[in-house]
Amino acid sequence: MGSAVVVAMDGPSGSGKSSTSRGVADRLGLRYLDTGAQFRAMAVWMIRHGIDVHDTDAVAARAGDPEIVSGTDPLEPTIRLDGEDVAAAIRSAEATAAVSPVATVPAVRQRLLELQRAIISTALAEGGIVVEGRDIGSVVWPEAEVKLYLTADPAARAARRAAENGSRSVETTEAELLRRDAIDSGRTTAPLVVPDGAVHLDTTPWELDEVVDRVVAIVEEARRRAPSDRTSS
Ligand code: C5P
Repeated sequence: MGSAVVVAMDGPSGSGKSSTSRGVADRLGLRYLDTGAQFRAMAVWMIRHGIDVHDTDAVAARAGDPEIVSGTDPLEPTIRLDGEDVAAAIRSAEATAAVSPVATVPAVRQRLLELQRAIISTALAEGGIVVEGRDIGSVVWPEAEVKLYLTADPAARAARRAAENGSRSVETTEAELLRRDAIDSGRTTAPLVVPDGAVHLDTTPWELDEVVDRVVAIVEEARRRAPSDRTSS
């Protein structure tokens, strides 16, 4: 195996981040972390405990309470909340509407930042990890060997997301995506930005396999160019 590597995969919803990240991690034998799932689990916990997700102080006061555990197998990622599998619950319309307000709260971001850094540190000893989110290359792991920023046209993003969850129309999905983009890009703490040094890929015209091929090539090139001193066994 080559040197250990962190691949930071940022971008808005529906840009192809999840499928690309999992495909790349699988091809290269890396772990995979979906940080969006952690924010979603936090939102589900707040809803279940009757916290008003728009009340920043109330959310901040409870940010340390949920136990959130992410499984990092790219073929079978898992997310547990207080011991319960919440993979389905975090994709509900209610959780999707609540997640961006919850993610603006600095105490929430700090709590999850600690979890994310611990998972990345562990994975580095096992060869490395692909981490997807909004602030991975800018805040969570700025020293990532590879930083990608994926985008796609809003209509293409909405069509992908609507196909994934089936029940909602492309129009409704596009409106939701744009609403979340606005909150995610406009917040004060760790907004969605193109990180310094990131390769920007517009995935609109490409099939998933083509995007995975390109990213795998970028990671392999980075490993050849600048072998890390964190060599895995
Ligand atoms: O990636 P996904 O769409 O599941 O993310 C859900 C929400 O979690 C985003 O809209 C954003 O508000 C938040 N998020 C974040 N920072 C990350 C990952 C997700 O703020 N690193």
